[in-house]
Amino acid sequence: MAEETIFSKIIRREIPADILFQDELVTAFRDISAQAPTHILIIPNHLIPTINDIKASDEKALGRMMSVAAKLAREEGIAEDGYRLILNCNEHAGQEVFHIHMHLVGGHSLGPMLSKKR
Ligand code: AMP
Repeated sequence: MAEETIFSKIIRREIPADILFQDELVTAFRDISAQAPTHILIIPNHLIPTINDIKASDEKALGRMMSVAAKLAREEGIAEDGYRLILNCNEHAGQEVFHIHMHLVGGHSLGPMLSKKR
């Protein structure tokens, strides 16, 4: 059994978060340490630790994460100028919280997709 993270507590509203959207499948809230004018995390309500753990039965929630990202981008007024969706998996990508989350970032020009540093 995968261990719950702080995100499960946010989903159950046991700890405070700036929740922008929640339905039966996903929850979206502002990142506590914003890296851009808009920085929102969109997560499935059930625990999937990493992208490597995705099963076919998760596809409905994962699809909902995408449509909620598009809806929130429109609501934030960044849809036309553009934004980036980021999913980090494991150590090389710098994943810190082991409950899949999609970062929705935008609000200014985001620069190159990847750092050239290695
Ligand atoms: P990652 O590096 O992809 O695992 O990203 C984890 C993200 O979760 C970081 O951007 C953190 O700032 C964010 N984060 C961690 N704890 C919280 C929290 N309690 N509320 C909102 N965002 C959080």
